Amino acid sequence: MKPLIDPFGRAITYLRVSVTDRCDLRCIYCMTERMRFVPRPELLTLEELARLCAAFVQRGVRRLRFTGGEPLVRRGFLDLLHEVKRHLGAGLDEITLTTNGVQLAEFAEPLYHAGVRRVNVSIDSLDRDTFKRIARRDRLAQVLEGVDAAERAGLKIKINTVALKHDNAHEIPDLVKWAHGRGFDITLIETMPLGEIDEDRTDQFLSLARVREDMQSYWTLRDIPDRTGGPARYVRVEETGGRLGFITPLTHNFCEGCSRVRLTCTGRLYLCLGHETSADLRAPLRASAEDAPLQEAIDAAIALRPKGHDFVIERLSQPATERHMSATGG
Ligand code: SAM
Ligand code: SF4
Repeated sequence: MKPLIDPFGRAITYLRVSVTDRCDLRCIYCMTERMRFVPRPELLTLEELARLCAAFVQRGVRRLRFTGGEPLVRRGFLDLLHEVKRHLGAGLDEITLTTNGVQLAEFAEPLYHAGVRRVNVSIDSLDRDTFKRIARRDRLAQVLEGVDAAERAGLKIKINTVALKHDNAHEIPDLVKWAHGRGFDITLIETMPLGEIDEDRTDQFLSLARVREDMQSYWTLRDIPDRTGGPARYVRVEETGGRLGFITPLTHNFCEGCSRVRLTCTGRLYLCLGHETSADLRAPLRASAEDAPLQEAIDAAIALRPKGHDFVIERLSQPATERHMSATGG
């Protein structure tokens, strides 16, 4: 089958799949305390998710990343992974996961058996009170147990940390030292204006250009080529020997060369993280057991892919998109 190439000549080789919009945390930059989640009948079933993954792998997607909400709260998630695992080595290179780590202690080994070799674990603080304030849940101990279990199970771990001006800015160097001390890569993420939250985003936004500048006053950061095909730019911290990534969607443009699209748990395909442009794949999926109509719908969706995104954080401005990160999974 012909590969998926967008109108700007970019091949689509990476699919992020949000398997649920639900979560066992309520991070302040991501959700409100009282989120309204998608009604269950609107959710794709595990079989539908597996069929969509297969359809994308047939068209040249080589990497699948499962995310959420929190992927580990979706019932039957491991069954889905076992279904998708059969594509490994037959078009698919890798299955990965982005998780908050709360349930990782229980899931680490089963994930390994389901073909996962790398996980991204989001940790915004190593201080119990700060973690609790950011995540609105007192779960740091479980997350750290999850990290230990993942390491024991043989999973390669990368840490994701959202940089927040008031809550964790002072702690970032310690987080980097901790991650590198454990042999993990760590990526810092700027907050993105996705969905209504309870706070004013300009109060939380911390420029990673600033963070990097500060770091350079006490560390030597050496640029290294980006090998992930994603939005992160990497440096080597000479003093720790570890790899540090910066995801700066607001201050830099990472659209050129972007190979990824995002599927929500209701079957909507988003063509760009910062654009509303999307297409419904659930209707064609449910309309026919044949693959042809679904593949046509995928082609039509990719033809809509915009060149790049247009986030703007302005005080009191509307979010650039109405959906939350928990819908598209970051
Ligand atoms: N629950 C999982 C987790 O937290 O890793 C997976 C989904 S979460 C939406 C994926 C990533 O997006 C996390 O690293 C999270 O910190 C980040 N994220 C969520 N909302 C964000 C926002 N508004 N701006 C930037 N990053 C955000
Ligand atoms: Fe849940 Fe992840 Fe959003 Fe935090 S960032 S509320 S863990 S989906």
